[in-house]
Amino acid sequence: MQLVGIARSAHAAPVLEAKRRVHYRQLATGRWINRVEGGRHSFGWSINPYRGCEMACQYCYARYTHEFMELEGGEDFETLIFAKQWNAREFRRELERVPMEEAIAIGTATDPYQHAERRYELTRRMLEVFATVSGRRIWITTKSDLVVRDLRVLQRVARRNVVSVNLTVTTLDVELARGLEPKAPRSDLRLAAVAALTGAGIQCGVIASPVMPGLNDREEDLKGLAVGARAAGALWFGGGVLFLKSPTREVFQQYLEREAPWLAGRYERAYREQARLPRAYQERVEGIFERLRAFAGLSRKAAPYRPPDWEAGRQMVLGL
Ligand code: SF4
Repeated sequence: MQLVGIARSAHAAPVLEAKRRVHYRQLATGRWINRVEGGRHSFGWSINPYRGCEMACQYCYARYTHEFMELEGGEDFETLIFAKQWNAREFRRELERVPMEEAIAIGTATDPYQHAERRYELTRRMLEVFATVSGRRIWITTKSDLVVRDLRVLQRVARRNVVSVNLTVTTLDVELARGLEPKAPRSDLRLAAVAALTGAGIQCGVIASPVMPGLNDREEDLKGLAVGARAAGALWFGGGVLFLKSPTREVFQQYLEREAPWLAGRYERAYREQARLPRAYQERVEGIFERLRAFAGLSRKAAPYRPPDWEAGRQMVLGL
């Protein structure tokens, strides 16, 4: 088969490092900051410094992105990780083209603080660039307490830009989390990261996505999470229902057959024809979040605020 585009780049990518199970490769990238199509999101641009993710969440919707590279979304997605080749000049150039009023989200597909970030520091390098500009609105979504490593640089970014961090926490049940998110940091560590960030003045929320019927959708369990989020200093709390399409559907189905076989048939029927559950279930979940926000004193989303050194221009700091 003749490979083209990103598939050709991926197969020709030089190996950066090979661990026992995981291989890291360097991907030459044409673009760092991508326009988000569809207008469904509160951000207009996205950044994903890595392709694939070692955290191996069984429900990870981004698995299909490995198929663009003629790789498979199961094992390959978790073990063949691509780190984009850093180019500060190109990143700055792309950033200058993003309209000031449009928000930029880091980590919309794969986690920007996944294990590879410890080695390659791509997210940190981007934040160092953001620390030199002002007037930007930046969202970061992660499941890793590694974000706390960048606390100082986040503080610098947040003096001149609006920074909001989402920590994803799906459950406080240790066993359930271990099966669903085998290589992700424990939920208590993620909440501790929220506490560290909010304590340092970075606004954070907790997102309990995805909500999965029969697994983590009990109101009592989500209530414990809302209370934990509030105690950690989170400002907002919410979540969305599991979105499931191939190849994630097959990976998740195998997980269910292994860990929760009594649910396997129900999921198979519910997601056989569509990637989303019926509206009625989604509304029920939204109702639960409404009640829990009211109970715990949390918001639905981040409140707008003006950073101390906000300048609605696109100035770079001289010398940086
Ligand atoms: S941390 Fe996010 S990107 Fe990584 S496997 Fe889990 S859901 Fe996917």
